[in-house]
Amino acid sequence: MNRTNSDRVALVTGAANGIGRATALAFAKNGYKVVVSDIDSQAGKETVALIEETGHEASFIRCDVSRDEEVRLLIEKTVSAYGRLDCAFNNAGIEIEKCKLADGDEGVFDSIMNVNVKGVWLCMKHQIPVMLAQGGGSIVNTASVAGLIAAPKQGIYSASKHAVIGLTKTAAVEYARRNIRVNAVCPAIIDTEMYRRANVADAKHVTMAVAAHPIGRIGTAEEIAAAVLYLSGDLAGFTTGVAMPVDGGLTAQ
Ligand code: NAD
Repeated sequence: MNRTNSDRVALVTGAANGIGRATALAFAKNGYKVVVSDIDSQAGKETVALIEETGHEASFIRCDVSRDEEVRLLIEKTVSAYGRLDCAFNNAGIEIEKCKLADGDEGVFDSIMNVNVKGVWLCMKHQIPVMLAQGGGSIVNTASVAGLIAAPKQGIYSASKHAVIGLTKTAAVEYARRNIRVNAVCPAIIDTEMYRRANVADAKHVTMAVAAHPIGRIGTAEEIAAAVLYLSGDLAGFTTGVAMPVDGGLTAQ
C-alpha cells in the first residue's frame, strides 16, 4: 500500500467511550476518515461530534459486535460509505464483577465470551475479506495485561483476553503473506469508565491499582491510542502477531 493517511479509513468499535473514543480521535487527528461504532448510539454520536469539531471526517454506525449480522452490516456500510477499510481497531469489550473462579456464573461467562471473544472474531471475519480484496490492511485488537498473566478474581475476563491474543496471532500468521498485519494491544489499568465503575468508590483499590504499576500511576486512554496508531500505521510495517503490553511496566515485574 502506498496511501497517505488522508486516503485511509479506520474503523473503531467500542468508540463511544474510553480507549475507543480516544483512539477514534487520534485516528482523525492523524488524517484518517473514521467510522465510530458502538452499541451506545448517543455517546457514539458525541465521539463523532468531537471529531467533527476538530475539522475531521467521521460517521457513526451502531453495532453490537457479538451479533454476526450486525457486524456484517457494519463492514458493508463502511465500505459502501468510504470505498475501503484500511485499519480496524476491534476494541469493544466488557468487564465483570470481580469474583473467584468457583463463584462465577454461567450467564456471565457466556456474555463475556460473546462480546470479548466472539466480537473480535466476528469483526475480523468480516474485515479480512475486504482487506484481501483491496490488497491489504491492518487490524489491532484490544486484549489486556489480563490476556498475558493471571488476573485473580477476573478469571473469565482473563480467559477472554487470552483468547483475543490467540485469535490475533493466528490471523497474523494466516494473512501475513496477503499484506494484512494483525496485532493486539494489552493495556494495564487505564483511567476510563470501565476502571472507574470498578474502583473509584474504593480508595484502597485505587491505591493498589496505582501501586501495581512500576511507573507509579495508571494509564490514560490517549496512551493506548498512541500505541494503536503506531501498530496500525506504516511505521509498524514489519510488526505482526504481537501482543504489545502498554502497561507502565506491570508485566515486566
Ligand atoms: P469503556 O467501558 O469505557 O468502553 C467500552 C465501550 O465498548 C463502551 O462504549 C461500550 O458501550 C462498548 N461496548 C460494550 N459492549 C459492546 C458490544 N457488544 N458491541 C459494541 N460495543 C460495545 O471501556 P474501556 O476501558 O475503554 O475498554 C475498552 C477495551 O479495553 C475493552 O476491550 C477492555 O476490556 C479493554 N481494557 C480496558 C482496560 C482498562 O483498565 N480500562 C484495561 C485493559 C483492557
